[in-house]
Amino acid sequence: MQFCPKCGSTLLPSKKEKKVTLVCPKCGYTSSKGEKVVSRISQETEKIVVIGRDIQKIRTLPKTKAECPKCGNHEAFYWLVQTRGADESSTQFLRCTRCGATWRENS
Ligand SMILES: [Zn+2]
Ligand SMILES: [Zn+2]
Repeated sequence: MQFCPKCGSTLLPSKKEKKVTLVCPKCGYTSSKGEKVVSRISQETEKIVVIGRDIQKIRTLPKTKAECPKCGNHEAFYWLVQTRGADESSTQFLRCTRCGATWRENS
């Protein structure tokens, strides 16, 4: 159980979309739980970007036939990234063998 930092009343959980927000029935204070979820997702995205940078150095990645959205090349390196908390279990990332553009495959 959590209490309102403003007035000390018991916070009541209210479900909005998929997020659970704690709301104070007395003063209307809303907990920042929803914001925390958003920042966790952005951290996840940063992690993926870092992985992408590391991958740049590795030349032994498997190649696949994929069209680059940037230069139209038909060959790209690919790797899978496990995304925790996301709906999908793993996401395929692709990197153009010609211009180095990276994008994620939505299958
Ligand atoms: Zn309150
Ligand atoms: Zn390209």
